[in-house]
Amino acid sequence: MRTIKVSVVTPGGPVLEEEVEMVSTKAKTGELGILAGHIPMVAPLDIGAVRLKTGNHTEWVAVSGGFVEVNGQEVTILAQSAERAENIDIARAKQAKARAEKRLTDRQAAIDAHRAEMALKRALNRLDIAEHQR
Ligand code: ATP
Repeated sequence: MRTIKVSVVTPGGPVLEEEVEMVSTKAKTGELGILAGHIPMVAPLDIGAVRLKTGNHTEWVAVSGGFVEVNGQEVTILAQSAERAENIDIARAKQAKARAEKRLTDRQAAIDAHRAEMALKRALNRLDIAEHQR
């Protein structure tokens, strides 16, 4: 099968660059599966997983929103943050989850509920993805 080059880039620098057969991710408009020869496009991403498939091996990467760009034989994912499954600190994500849940249940006047919901979503996404590569 033909391969496609994928790069994941964050404000902190590149997270990965690989040749894979298929890139799957969740754009705001729905699931996207990108193979070599895909038409050029740009789409916004949700907090979710990027899956890199080659043969029957799948690598999971957690991303916290951003954009996917497909251009020629290259896929670039620009994300606010991104971690490969094996680099996810599970204890840290559990703490972030507990913090966000506490903020949402305490419902103090000054809390920014949307911000807490986003933090909870990032933490749940990391925990979910870390599970896939254990
Ligand atoms: P926290 O409250 O633990 O910082 P967060 O969701 O607010 O979580 P982000 O702002 O999304 O964190 O990310 C800040 C930086 O920390 C990014 O570089 C991100 O890749 C990294 N990061 C955040 N949580 C984890 C984690 N559980 N494991 C590994 N890296 C993480």
